[in-house]
Amino acid sequence: MLTVIRGPDGGAVKMVENSESPWQHVLLGYDQCDRRCHGRVASEEGCIFKSYQYVGPASILERVQGQPSGRLVKGCADIRVWVLENGSNGSATATFTVDSSLGLRLADRHSEHVACAGFRPVLSAGEIVIEVQGSDVEVTSISNQSTGFCPEPSSWAAVSECLERIGLEHPGEFTAVFDFRLCGECGARNLIKDEWFECPCGAELPKHWNF
Ligand SMILES: [Zn+2]
Repeated sequence: MLTVIRGPDGGAVKMVENSESPWQHVLLGYDQCDRRCHGRVASEEGCIFKSYQYVGPASILERVQGQPSGRLVKGCADIRVWVLENGSNGSATATFTVDSSLGLRLADRHSEHVACAGFRPVLSAGEIVIEVQGSDVEVTSISNQSTGFCPEPSSWAAVSECLERIGLEHPGEFTAVFDFRLCGECGARNLIKDEWFECPCGAELPKHWNF
Protein backbone atom coordinates (compact mmCIF):
# COMPACT_ATOMS: atom_id res chain seq x y z
CA MET A 1 0.00 0.00 0.00
CA LEU A 2 1.37 3.42 -1.00
CA THR A 3 0.48 6.70 0.64
CA VAL A 4 1.78 9.88 -0.97
CA ILE A 5 2.82 12.59 1.45
CA ARG A 6 4.71 15.87 1.08
CA GLY A 7 8.17 16.47 2.51
CA PRO A 8 8.91 19.56 4.66
CA ASP A 9 10.18 21.40 1.56
CA GLY A 10 7.01 20.58 -0.37
CA GLY A 11 8.64 17.88 -2.49
CA ALA A 12 6.70 14.70 -3.10
CA VAL A 13 7.81 11.92 -0.79
CA LYS A 14 6.02 8.61 -0.80
CA MET A 15 5.78 6.58 2.37
CA VAL A 16 5.74 2.92 1.41
CA GLU A 17 4.19 0.54 3.87
CA ASN A 18 5.91 -2.80 3.81
CA SER A 19 3.37 -5.54 4.42
CA GLU A 20 6.03 -7.88 5.82
CA SER A 21 7.29 -5.58 8.55
CA PRO A 22 5.92 -2.87 10.80
CA TRP A 23 8.36 -0.21 9.68
CA GLN A 24 8.11 2.03 6.69
CA HIS A 25 10.30 2.92 3.77
CA VAL A 26 10.65 6.28 2.12
CA LEU A 27 10.76 6.31 -1.61
CA LEU A 28 12.14 9.34 -3.41
CA GLY A 29 10.75 9.41 -6.93
CA TYR A 30 13.03 10.06 -9.88
CA ASP A 31 11.99 13.72 -9.83
CA GLN A 32 13.79 13.91 -6.46
CA CYS A 33 16.60 11.48 -7.16
CA ASP A 34 19.66 12.66 -9.02
CA ARG A 35 20.94 9.08 -9.20
CA ARG A 36 24.06 9.85 -7.20
CA CYS A 37 23.15 6.76 -5.21
CA HIS A 38 24.52 4.82 -8.22
CA GLY A 39 21.76 2.28 -7.86
CA ARG A 40 22.82 1.19 -4.37
CA VAL A 41 19.31 1.66 -3.09
CA ALA A 42 17.35 2.09 -6.29
CA SER A 43 14.16 0.35 -7.26
CA GLU A 44 12.33 0.71 -10.57
CA GLU A 45 10.50 3.72 -9.16
CA GLY A 46 13.31 5.53 -7.39
CA CYS A 47 15.59 5.29 -4.38
CA ILE A 48 14.26 3.51 -1.33
CA PHE A 49 15.53 4.34 2.13
CA LYS A 50 14.25 2.82 5.32
CA SER A 51 12.53 5.26 7.64
CA TYR A 52 13.02 5.00 11.41
CA GLN A 53 10.42 6.00 13.99
CA TYR A 54 11.34 7.04 17.54
CA VAL A 55 11.76 3.89 19.66
CA GLY A 56 13.32 5.41 22.79
CA PRO A 57 11.77 5.83 26.24
CA ALA A 58 8.55 7.85 26.57
CA SER A 59 10.14 9.73 29.51
CA ILE A 60 12.78 11.26 27.21
CA LEU A 61 10.16 12.14 24.62
CA GLU A 62 8.19 13.97 27.31
CA ARG A 63 11.24 15.76 28.68
CA VAL A 64 12.26 17.21 25.33
CA GLN A 65 8.78 18.22 24.11
CA GLY A 66 8.84 21.78 22.82
CA GLN A 67 12.60 21.84 22.18
CA PRO A 68 13.55 23.33 18.81
CA SER A 69 14.56 21.05 15.95
CA GLY A 70 18.13 20.94 14.69
CA ARG A 71 19.31 23.44 12.12
CA LEU A 72 18.64 22.34 8.54
CA VAL A 73 21.96 22.85 6.72
CA LYS A 74 21.67 22.94 2.96
CA GLY A 75 25.26 23.53 1.88
CA CYS A 76 28.87 23.60 3.05
CA ALA A 77 28.57 27.35 3.75
CA ASP A 78 25.69 26.71 6.21
CA ILE A 79 27.65 23.92 7.87
CA ARG A 80 30.77 26.06 8.16
CA VAL A 81 28.74 28.74 9.95
CA TRP A 82 27.21 26.16 12.29
CA VAL A 83 30.64 24.72 13.19
CA LEU A 84 32.13 28.15 13.83
CA GLU A 85 29.16 29.09 16.04
CA ASN A 86 28.93 25.81 17.95
CA GLY A 87 32.40 24.28 17.96
CA SER A 88 35.87 25.36 18.95
CA ASN A 89 39.12 25.60 16.97
CA GLY A 90 37.27 24.90 13.74
CA SER A 91 35.86 21.58 14.92
CA ALA A 92 32.46 20.59 16.25
CA THR A 93 30.84 17.35 17.42
CA ALA A 94 27.12 17.38 16.78
CA THR A 95 23.95 15.34 16.97
CA PHE A 96 22.70 14.81 13.43
CA THR A 97 19.59 13.46 11.77
CA VAL A 98 18.71 12.87 8.12
CA ASP A 99 15.06 13.69 7.45
CA SER A 100 12.75 11.99 4.99
CA SER A 101 13.69 14.50 2.26
CA LEU A 102 17.40 13.70 2.81
CA GLY A 103 17.87 16.99 4.67
CA LEU A 104 20.71 17.14 7.22
CA ARG A 105 19.91 18.62 10.64
CA LEU A 106 22.57 19.51 13.21
CA ALA A 107 22.09 20.17 16.91
CA ASP A 108 24.23 20.47 20.02
CA ARG A 109 25.86 17.11 20.80
CA HIS A 110 23.84 16.79 24.02
CA SER A 111 20.52 17.14 22.17
CA GLU A 112 18.18 14.19 21.79
CA HIS A 113 17.89 12.96 18.21
CA VAL A 114 14.10 13.01 18.35
CA ALA A 115 14.13 16.76 19.08
CA CYS A 116 16.84 17.39 16.45
CA ALA A 117 14.57 15.66 13.92
CA GLY A 118 11.61 17.87 14.85
CA PHE A 119 9.75 14.81 16.23
CA ARG A 120 9.51 13.28 12.76
CA PRO A 121 10.84 9.96 11.44
CA VAL A 122 14.43 9.87 10.16
CA LEU A 123 16.42 7.98 7.52
CA SER A 124 19.42 7.92 9.88
CA ALA A 125 20.74 9.59 13.03
CA GLY A 126 23.92 9.65 15.05
CA GLU A 127 26.96 11.70 15.98
CA ILE A 128 29.08 13.63 13.52
CA VAL A 129 32.41 15.45 13.81
CA ILE A 130 32.91 18.25 11.30
CA GLU A 131 36.14 20.16 10.78
CA VAL A 132 36.58 23.50 9.06
CA GLN A 133 39.87 24.77 7.65
CA GLY A 134 39.52 28.03 5.79
CA SER A 135 36.72 27.41 3.31
CA ASP A 136 37.16 23.61 3.46
CA VAL A 137 34.52 21.67 5.39
CA GLU A 138 34.90 17.96 6.06
CA VAL A 139 33.24 15.19 8.07
CA THR A 140 36.07 13.46 9.94
CA SER A 141 34.02 10.95 11.90
CA ILE A 142 30.41 9.85 11.92
CA SER A 143 28.36 7.14 13.63
CA ASN A 144 24.81 5.79 13.77
CA GLN A 145 24.78 6.11 17.57
CA SER A 146 21.20 7.07 18.39
CA THR A 147 19.38 5.16 21.09
CA GLY A 148 16.24 7.15 20.23
CA PHE A 149 15.95 5.83 16.68
CA CYS A 150 18.37 2.84 16.76
CA PRO A 151 19.10 3.14 13.03
CA GLU A 152 20.82 0.22 11.33
CA PRO A 153 24.36 0.33 9.93
CA SER A 154 22.75 0.11 6.48
CA SER A 155 21.25 3.57 7.02
CA TRP A 156 24.64 4.79 5.75
CA ALA A 157 23.09 4.67 2.26
CA ALA A 158 20.84 7.60 3.20
CA VAL A 159 23.65 9.44 5.01
CA SER A 160 26.03 9.23 2.06
CA GLU A 161 23.31 10.32 -0.36
CA CYS A 162 22.54 13.27 1.93
CA LEU A 163 26.21 14.31 2.33
CA GLU A 164 26.93 13.94 -1.38
CA ARG A 165 23.97 16.12 -2.30
CA ILE A 166 25.38 18.80 0.02
CA GLY A 167 28.85 18.30 -1.45
CA LEU A 168 30.36 17.58 1.95
CA GLU A 169 33.56 15.49 2.09
CA HIS A 170 33.06 12.39 4.24
CA PRO A 171 34.89 9.19 5.29
CA GLY A 172 32.83 6.90 2.98
CA GLU A 173 31.31 4.87 5.82
CA PHE A 174 30.31 5.14 9.47
CA THR A 175 33.62 5.43 11.34
CA ALA A 176 31.90 3.88 14.38
CA VAL A 177 29.11 1.39 13.71
CA PHE A 178 26.39 0.56 16.24
CA ASP A 179 24.12 -2.46 16.01
CA PHE A 180 21.00 -2.24 18.20
CA ARG A 181 18.57 -4.96 19.32
CA LEU A 182 15.43 -4.86 21.42
CA CYS A 183 15.12 -7.49 24.14
CA GLY A 184 11.79 -9.31 23.79
CA GLU A 185 11.88 -10.31 27.47
CA CYS A 186 12.75 -7.13 29.39
CA GLY A 187 12.34 -4.46 26.70
CA ALA A 188 15.92 -3.17 27.04
CA ARG A 189 17.64 -1.64 24.02
CA ASN A 190 20.94 -3.46 23.61
CA LEU A 191 24.09 -2.62 21.74
CA ILE A 192 25.59 -5.72 20.12
CA LYS A 193 29.32 -6.05 20.73
CA ASP A 194 31.63 -8.80 19.49
CA GLU A 195 28.71 -10.77 18.02
CA TRP A 196 27.35 -11.31 21.54
CA PHE A 197 23.57 -11.64 21.17
CA GLU A 198 22.53 -11.83 24.80
CA CYS A 199 20.70 -9.27 26.93
CA PRO A 200 22.01 -8.62 30.48
CA CYS A 201 18.66 -10.13 31.65
CA GLY A 202 19.81 -13.45 30.14
CA ALA A 203 17.46 -13.53 27.15
CA GLU A 204 18.81 -14.34 23.72
CA LEU A 205 18.66 -11.46 21.22
CA PRO A 206 17.69 -11.94 17.58
CA LYS A 207 20.33 -11.85 14.84
CA HIS A 208 18.30 -9.29 12.88
CA TRP A 209 17.32 -5.71 13.76
CA ASN A 210 13.94 -5.92 15.52
CA PHE A 211 12.53 -2.52 16.49
ZN1 LIG B 1 16.46 -8.38 28.40
